[in-house]
Amino acid sequence: MKKRKEPTVVTSQYCYIITGVATGGIHVVHKNGKCICGLGAKCEAVALVKRYLTDGGQRASDPPADYWPFMPEVCPVCGNSVENEPRLMSESHGMGWKCTVSGTLHYWQALTNELIVLQKNNPYEYLIPPAVDYPGVKFEEHYDAQRSAKHWYYEEDASPEPR
Ligand SMILES: [Zn+2]
Ligand SMILES: [Zn+2]
Repeated sequence: MKKRKEPTVVTSQYCYIITGVATGGIHVVHKNGKCICGLGAKCEAVALVKRYLTDGGQRASDPPADYWPFMPEVCPVCGNSVENEPRLMSESHGMGWKCTVSGTLHYWQALTNELIVLQKNNPYEYLIPPAVDYPGVKFEEHYDAQRSAKHWYYEEDASPEPR
């Protein structure tokens, strides 16, 4: 039997990066419990993340309200299924998607709704204001995190342009 390296799980901002799984390669598991490798929830990496968290591993941060590190399961506006829309992928709002009923319209509606809420709470300093047991996210931290780790946010098949 071939000996393989012990799998490792590392928390990276809004997701987990897993190396050393049987299928090889680097796996990225998002907070929706799915790996971007194509196996989704069935990927071995998902179970490894669960074990890592049970053992006290560091939880990935919640993404800002106007940022999609992964595509939503269903359209947040009408509840229908969504598909990838690479043209809407952006550094400030993450994954691009469109809904199968409205096209890109509901993407913009969902984004606008979140931006209005953020604007109302008007955090000059905080993107997400602190709450009882939540330290909040400052604009600065948000942009730093995006700059340092943005390539992990995108699905593999979307092939983002290097920036
Ligand atoms: Zn995987
Ligand atoms: Zn929709």
